[in-house]
Amino acid sequence: MSQTPLKEQRSPETATALDVELRKVFKVFNGETAVRGVDLEIHSGEFFSILGPSGCGKTTTLRLIAGFETPSAGEVLIQGQLMNHTPAYKRPVNTVFQSYALFNHLSVSENIAFGLRLKKLPGAEVENRVKDALRLVQMDTYTNRFPAQLSGGQQQRVALARALVNRPAVVLLDEPLGALDFKLRKEMQVELSKLHQELGLTFVMVTHDQEEALSLSDRMAVMRSGKIEQIGSPTEIYERPRTPFVADFIGDTNLFSGRVEAADVSSMQVITETGLKIVVQTQDKPSTNSSRDLVVSVRPEKIHLSLEPVASPTNCFEGRLKHVMYLGTHVHYVVELLSGDRIMIRQPSTKQLPDPQTPVYLHWAATDCLALGE
Ligand code: ATP
Repeated sequence: MSQTPLKEQRSPETATALDVELRKVFKVFNGETAVRGVDLEIHSGEFFSILGPSGCGKTTTLRLIAGFETPSAGEVLIQGQLMNHTPAYKRPVNTVFQSYALFNHLSVSENIAFGLRLKKLPGAEVENRVKDALRLVQMDTYTNRFPAQLSGGQQQRVALARALVNRPAVVLLDEPLGALDFKLRKEMQVELSKLHQELGLTFVMVTHDQEEALSLSDRMAVMRSGKIEQIGSPTEIYERPRTPFVADFIGDTNLFSGRVEAADVSSMQVITETGLKIVVQTQDKPSTNSSRDLVVSVRPEKIHLSLEPVASPTNCFEGRLKHVMYLGTHVHYVVELLSGDRIMIRQPSTKQLPDPQTPVYLHWAATDCLALGE
């Protein structure tokens, strides 16, 4: 998957203070454990995303930070202060929901002013802050409209302004763009990224959209069954997934289960369960003992497809084309190898597409194989 990050990578030394800390946090609902021992450190000013399949505990984790849930065990800290028993409205955080959660009977400016009025701030200050917040999200010409008179994207901008007007230390975003169509979602991703850079606040976002997380985040956590499987920068997560689950969940990949047959300091030979011999470069890893079971991951964009036999001594396999899917900028192929393995391949589009059932030859570099523990 080719990613164009919407933001510069943050250098580690600029992100030192911790805005959010979760220490061994558990959440149990009626005997069902939704969050199991989560440890998390989110730095001040970071754009941090929590990603994972449905039901893995992402929203519960965000709600524990927001104060809408109390941990069953463990500690939640915000800016170094223990928050376990601090109600949501007293925490220096504000949440933006997928459903916008605007008050339909209030105008745009009244929606944004609502929280400030509850806090009994002076009228002039409320007015100034509302104006600033509306300008930030480019909604200053819509002050008197009601939510029903706004598009989905505009309603989400108002919801963002309503969170930002309180000047929280941390903005929590629960699938904030989930209700928008594809094009608007892409536009709002750029807006969100700009806003984050302009304000320098900490953003914590829950999303099931991996491309969104990869392009917006400084770091992200991939969750599975209530636990964090891996935390890292988008590049680390995509290029160096630590487990088959992360490799498979983030982007597409081909996974081969096998056993190490021979290994030296820089490479190893893996025999897959279907009898393929795959050579894996292991330069940045300690040498591996033979006879160890593992999973080899090869991304579809790393595989070359040829209609002619290839003179490559390693990782070169013969098969037959099963599916060809034209996707505009690239083509997605499924090839069945003689071993029976089905392999996904992604290549830039060409004018002439081969027909299904055409015999093909696949090859990939040993450096494009990742060995993952089971
Ligand atoms: P999705 O992407 O579908 O929103 P998620 O990763 O955000 O999923 P959570 O909403 O955190 O998952 O839910 C994790 C688990 O906890 C699920 O099994 C869910 O049914 C359960 N759960 C969440 N909230 C409650 C609740 N208030 N009462 C009982 N069970 C709950």
